[in-house]
Order: sequence, then structure tokens, then C-alpha cells
Amino acid sequence: MSQVVEHGGGVWSIKVPIPDNPLGHTLVHLLDTDRGPVLVDTGWDDPASWEELTGGLTALGTSVGEIHGVVITHHHPDHHGLSGQVREASGAWIAMHAADTAVVRRTRASEPGDWLDYLARKLEAVGAPPEHTAPLRAARSGGRMRTLPGLRSALPDREIVPGELLDLAGRRLRAIWTPGHTPGHVCLHLEEDHPARLPGHGRLFSGDHLLPGISPHIGLYEDPDDATVTDPLGDYLASLERIGRLGVAEVLPAHQHAFTDAAGRVGELLRHHEERLTGLLSLLATPLTPWQLAERMEWNRPWDQIPYGSRNIAVSEAEAHLRRLVKLGRAEAVPGTDPVTYVAV
Ligand SMILES: [Zn+2]
Ligand SMILES: [Zn+2]
Repeated sequence: MSQVVEHGGGVWSIKVPIPDNPLGHTLVHLLDTDRGPVLVDTGWDDPASWEELTGGLTALGTSVGEIHGVVITHHHPDHHGLSGQVREASGAWIAMHAADTAVVRRTRASEPGDWLDYLARKLEAVGAPPEHTAPLRAARSGGRMRTLPGLRSALPDREIVPGELLDLAGRRLRAIWTPGHTPGHVCLHLEEDHPARLPGHGRLFSGDHLLPGISPHIGLYEDPDDATVTDPLGDYLASLERIGRLGVAEVLPAHQHAFTDAAGRVGELLRHHEERLTGLLSLLATPLTPWQLAERMEWNRPWDQIPYGSRNIAVSEAEAHLRRLVKLGRAEAVPGTDPVTYVAV
């Protein structure tokens, strides 16, 4: 039996499992419109997840064939994984922010080998030891290239334009661009009275941007073709403040559970990042490469117990924090170092 929750006012959520992942599940939301049901996110591309999604729709008295449209908060496979299958079964359109559509387009076109080369080059540039990059080089030369989850992900048909209402019959759903977790992440503001009259201004589908008990991963926007020095953590913090100012009555996130007091949660996350940045500055009393910084940062377990792939994610997060500190003028690159080291100012 699929787990379906009614949130009132023509909104439901379906728990769609993410296989072998501590997050457990994605909350796929269903929004009734005058032209048929619309999904916010779709879930991981896996037969068991598809079963739960379609079973959930049936439990709600509809079916996947009835879906009119799919609105995607961001391109990650736990949100966009089943979109193509939903479109095939229903003829629904898929909408996404242009910056994430660009990621989907790039991933679909990329050769896994090129991606491995890019990753190895990048890791060497941030000071990863040879024993960390050796498996990438070996997989490349041995032709052992695991398929990346995003390779088959669906190209959207529609663009989500920041600040504008989506074209949904009988509903007021406005796109709020919230870059940081991904370059094209959006939250969707349902500008309608709360069905239980909770105080505040409507409800927010927050994707991964604002979750009740998790601080979302903020790494770099990986783009082999773009040399722009982006500042994803700066983007994220600015997006958080934007969401805090909406004054929504309730948040409907894509993981965990619905919650109220969005502004309180925004404040917690802003303080968390401020404390983390301050903590990093004390580590940077000695010049460190991004890799060395990641080794010394606090994670959910000691560095030597962090699995291989998660170390790449961790070092990307360390780099995002370094970029923010440099941008704030609180740290700087040490001239003439290779790999480049950073030091507190
Ligand atoms: Zn995500
Ligand atoms: Zn997610």
C-alpha cells in the first residue's frame, strides 16, 4: 500500500522510495487543476519507485495516464528520474528552469569518459592525492565506465520562468528561483489561502531547498564547459532569505515531512552556515588546499570512513565554502601555490 497524505485544498503527497539511499523517499506532490492533475517532481527512476508512484495515483482515484503536467523543482534523479516515463504514459508536459534544463542537455550529450577525465582533472587541481584519482584514470583506460544516472533523463518541454505564474488552470502557482543546491532549483509558491486557515501567505513546494531536518548539499555547479567562478553557497544563502520573506503558512518539502514556521527554519540554516564558515576560517589559519580543508571539516563521520564517491561531494562542498569566504574577503588564494592553497585573511 502506497503512503499517500492529503494536505487539503487539492494537494496530496505520495512517498516514492529512493532505493539504497538514507534519504528514504521523495515526496511527490499532486496538485489538482481544472485540466487534470499536475505532479511536482516524479521520483527516482526505478521499477519499485514507479510502482509506488502509480499505485499512489490509483489510491487517489486517478492514474498516471491522467497526468496533465509535471513541474520539476530541480534536475536531480530523485526528483526528475521518472518524468520521462510519466510523459510517455500520459502525454504530460514537463517544466523545468532553464539553468537545470541546460544541465540535463549537457549530461545527455556527454560521454562518460569525458566526465571521468573532467573529474580527475578537477580533483587533481584541488589537491586530491594520486591514490584518489587513480581509480578514475584506471576506469577510463580500462573502458569500465558506469552509466551515470542522468544520462537518460528527460528533456523538458516547458521553461519555468522565475517570478511568473505557471500556466495551470484554476490555480495560482508562482515560480521562485532558488539557485544553490542546483543552478536552476525552483520553489513553487501556491498563492492560495491555506485550507486549514493557518496564518501566513499560502504554501510552498520547497523541493530540496528548505527541508525540516536536513541541510541540503551545496557544492559547485559542475560544468566542464564553463570557466565562470560561480558562488553556489552565496546563491543558496540569498535564495534562503528570499524564501524566508515570503511568509508562507506551510512548507511542503520533497523529503521528510510538511512543516510550518518557514522563517524559523530559514534562520536556523543561515546560522548553521555562518557558524560553519567561521569554523572554516579557524582551520584556514594554515594554508590548505580544498582537499585538505575537506579532510579537516566536520562531516557526519570521520574522513577515513567516508566512502569514495562521498569524498568527491565533500570536497565540492569545501570548495563552495572557500569560494564564499574569498568572495566575502575573509580568505584568499596563496599566490604561486599549485595545487592552490587558501588562507584566512
Ligand atoms: Zn537535490
Ligand atoms: Zn532530493
